[in-house]
Amino acid sequence: MLRVENIKHSFKTGNEWTPVLHDISFNVKQGEMVALLGSSGSGKSTMLNLMAGLMKPTEGHIFIADHDIVKMGENKLSVFRRKHIGFIFQAYELITSLTVRENVELPLVFQSVSPSIRKQKALALLEQVGIPDKADLFPSQLSGGQQQRVSIARSLITEPSVIFADEPTGNLDSKTEDEIIDILLKLNRTMNTTFIVVTHEHEVAEQMQRIFSLRDGYLITEEQKAAEAEPQEEETQ
Ligand code: ADP
Ligand code: MG
Repeated sequence: MLRVENIKHSFKTGNEWTPVLHDISFNVKQGEMVALLGSSGSGKSTMLNLMAGLMKPTEGHIFIADHDIVKMGENKLSVFRRKHIGFIFQAYELITSLTVRENVELPLVFQSVSPSIRKQKALALLEQVGIPDKADLFPSQLSGGQQQRVSIARSLITEPSVIFADEPTGNLDSKTEDEIIDILLKLNRTMNTTFIVVTHEHEVAEQMQRIFSLRDGYLITEEQKAAEAEPQEEETQ
């Protein structure tokens, strides 16, 4: 479903180029739920934004459902993104002037889906994320956890090939965090949606099927992790 090949990325600050991702490669299968784990500044959001086609990498290729999104021009990419990619943000990014149901329907408005079908799909998804009674409220009338449920429903409405979530529980208390992660795990099981979840919390990452760890822009392999876990001193070894 997702193939990341030899991705390198640098940001320009003034006249200097700062490398933030160094030769990253990995694959994710259809229906998998994986974590991208790393501390603050390790390059998680940059990697996620590249995979979601929101930025172009300095080097490398990213294939989603066998299409190289790095090579795609802006017009084709924006159509592709709407069809294949869902995104969940840390700060929900709901539109405050629209109701919950209208927020969930919004991606389908851009695809010219009829109002009655949009409504039906949005209400079904609000049921799935456990807030069927909130459809006619506005985002400001909801708790953070409820707003994130709305944002999850919105990301699913186009039935995307893959959903990227950037620290989806970063603004939530630990009880609400567990609820949101449980919803994502349930959606992955029942709808077979592929999820890539960025987090800096081990406890969150460990609930996913696989973990990719980033450190200072490098992907840490399982072998490296195992080697680091071993005692360093010869005698102890
Ligand atoms: P994370 O999400 O893991 O906290 P980021 O991907 O946001 O990490 O950032 C990785 C590195 O890239 C950091 O050193 C950050 O300061 C830098 N960075 C991120 N975005 C930009 C940008 N737009 N311009 C310059 N540097 C950036
Ligand atoms: Mg980040």
